[in-house]
Amino acid sequence: MKRVNKIYINGEFVTPNGTEVFDLINPASNIKIGEVILADETDTKKAVAAAKAAFKKFSKATVAERIQYLEKLKNAVLKKEQELTNIMIEEYGGTHQFVTLSNKHTGSWFDSMIKVLQHFEFEKNINSSVVRLQPVGVVGIITPWNASNSSICSKVAAAVAAGCTLVIKPSEMSSLQTQVLMEAFHDAGLPNGVINFVTGLGNVVGTELTNNPDVAKISFTGSTAVGKLIAKNAADTMKRITLELGGKSPNIILEDADLQKAIPMAVYGAYMNSGQACIAPTRLLVPENKLQEVNAIAKSVAEKIIVGLPENEDTNIGPMVSVKQFQRVQSYIRLGLEEGATLLIGGEGKPKELEAGNFVKATIFTHVKNDMRIAQEEIFGPVLCIIPYKTEEEALEIANDTPYGLAAYISSEDYDHAVRVASQIDAGRVCINGFSHDPMVPFGGFKQSGIGREYGAYGLQAYLEPKAILK
Ligand code: NAD
Repeated sequence: MKRVNKIYINGEFVTPNGTEVFDLINPASNIKIGEVILADETDTKKAVAAAKAAFKKFSKATVAERIQYLEKLKNAVLKKEQELTNIMIEEYGGTHQFVTLSNKHTGSWFDSMIKVLQHFEFEKNINSSVVRLQPVGVVGIITPWNASNSSICSKVAAAVAAGCTLVIKPSEMSSLQTQVLMEAFHDAGLPNGVINFVTGLGNVVGTELTNNPDVAKISFTGSTAVGKLIAKNAADTMKRITLELGGKSPNIILEDADLQKAIPMAVYGAYMNSGQACIAPTRLLVPENKLQEVNAIAKSVAEKIIVGLPENEDTNIGPMVSVKQFQRVQSYIRLGLEEGATLLIGGEGKPKELEAGNFVKATIFTHVKNDMRIAQEEIFGPVLCIIPYKTEEEALEIANDTPYGLAAYISSEDYDHAVRVASQIDAGRVCINGFSHDPMVPFGGFKQSGIGREYGAYGLQAYLEPKAILK
């Protein structure tokens, strides 16, 4: 039984004031694997005070020093890569395939910020004035369970690059991963108080961070519902906010796409992280005259998808993170049938021999209409909706007709054609013919998928406040 009973404040692992305990359950077996002592408001206030004290000096660190700190953070986290991989598989049921790939990118969050720092202008002359970009102050970082490591590392890299100090509140469901990261960041040896971790509940630690007047900015990744709450709470002290929220991303298969390439990619993409990914292409938009062909390919691909134990290297879909999430996905599958969508494969219930865990069958609905709730709402499970369209104009209308605007995907054999379509999509990121990782280009959502951008120079700017000094 693992026990997370320390938080990290001012360079020390300390026992929290909070005493409530949260059970950590392995989602593949629903067996308790550990527990975490939940920190409270007092702990959060202490962490903020430590970050505030550290900011005085850290905000003056030179660019060269900040680059060194980023190098140290990167090396310390990379040393823990295998440990992190194992714990992510155990704690949230991330598949070996997904977690290994995702952790391969860890170094890139730090490397990309180092690259940005090497060219970034923190001071500019405009007419006879000087404009300085200075670190915003203490940052509260609040992250989800489905991308805990990458969210934390990308936010920490940007905040440290800017010269900010921070208090991290990860999802309580990621407490074991958090412990590994806490140790890594401690080993990196940054000045005391620059990085602090407080593990606790959203409505306790998260609310305190969002209300605390000494926190200048909140960088949040999580659901749109919580993002709205944070924006409302943060308004009282006029905090800067970066919100990375939910999505219901369209994947447009254009007339000139190669279906044999595009559809397998579409199905595997929809099931990334077992369907628990904000950027998953969950709405597959296909020309009506190709619907039958698409259905046949999609079904044959899904038949080969392996739902299984997350530690097995050939598993494509692991368990949902919790019983609650499993039930939520099941209720959407029932809803799809009630709404009149056609079930192509999968459906309600667990796959055979996986009854102990929160496993969902690889599910595809076809003949879906975009106004159905299964097409509008984030399901966060392995459920793909195939939606037919008649014309490209209609495809664009459908693509843009949700409250979200995080990511979009286009398949076409004609790149220029795809780019013309991409320019008409309301989404922060449009990928053509596949999925790529580039930590230098901005990431974030249009509409209710968020506010602000992360990664690269845009991500760094989000932690800086321009100050004009006029003659
Ligand atoms: P969540 O919104 O339930 O929780 C996210 C974090 O917010 C957790 O640490 C939680 O404890 C905290 N929180 C909860 N209530 C709070 C409150 N009142 N005040 C402050 N903090 C609070 O999300 P989740 O279930 O952990 O993650 C899944 C969601 O995250 C999905 O909607 C997914 O799309 C989204 N997500 C978005 C991105 C992105 O980059 N856009 C990336 C990953 C996940």
